[in-house]
Amino acid sequence: MHRDDDQRLSEALIRDVERDFRETAHTTGVKAPDRRLVDAMRTVSRRDFVPDAAARNAWDNRPLSIGYGQTISQPFIVALMTQLLELTPESRVLEIGTGSGYQAAILGELAAEVFSIEVVPELAETAATRLERLGYRNIQVRAGNGRDGWPEAAPFDAVIVTAGADEVPPALVEQLRTGGRLVIPVDARWAGQDLMVAVKRSDGTLSQRRALSVIFVPLIGGSSEQ
Ligand code: SAH
Repeated sequence: MHRDDDQRLSEALIRDVERDFRETAHTTGVKAPDRRLVDAMRTVSRRDFVPDAAARNAWDNRPLSIGYGQTISQPFIVALMTQLLELTPESRVLEIGTGSGYQAAILGELAAEVFSIEVVPELAETAATRLERLGYRNIQVRAGNGRDGWPEAAPFDAVIVTAGADEVPPALVEQLRTGGRLVIPVDARWAGQDLMVAVKRSDGTLSQRRALSVIFVPLIGGSSEQ
């Protein structure tokens, strides 16, 4: 597709995302994505992160298949979760569920350093190669079980989990700094998940609130320490 078309479709997608922010503001508490986030969405081409077979849907505001039974998340959800992390250019971020690497790239635009873990080795490899080719020097990808976090790089200012968890993995709370933010979809009672936003208190516990009902692919595997 021609670049002008990409730009037009990208602007239309950003308008869709902004509309979703307005329509969900009553539960998320966020009326609009901030300017730095919108700029990041303009800079990162979602086209670079979807398989060629899905190219014509790259700018749709919905999840798309990336193989191995996994998906690249809906752009609105990527934007919302990113906004809820309240990143600064100094932030060090841990992401669980690299998938295509799209969310990692958005984080890489906004934060100082991104550490991203993907359980499917082939996806980790593809995302790492892609992010390297796109010039992201501040994003590291590793294959493994994200429930254990990345202890050598801790503590993090923000942790984002992009797969549905049955519970908040304790290692991720341990590796979050006091005052740091965690955004994670946690299984709801009947179906789907509640997108939770948590801040770590000085006593190590979390102050949590529910932002939205969401549907993610499940977080695979238990903790390798159990
Ligand atoms: N953030 C991704 C979307 C991810 S979909 C993107 O921007 O494209 C969820 C991803 O989490 C999938 O790729 C899945 O393989 C991965 N995943 C599931 N369980 C995991 C685990 N325990 N540790 C790390 N990654 C996991």
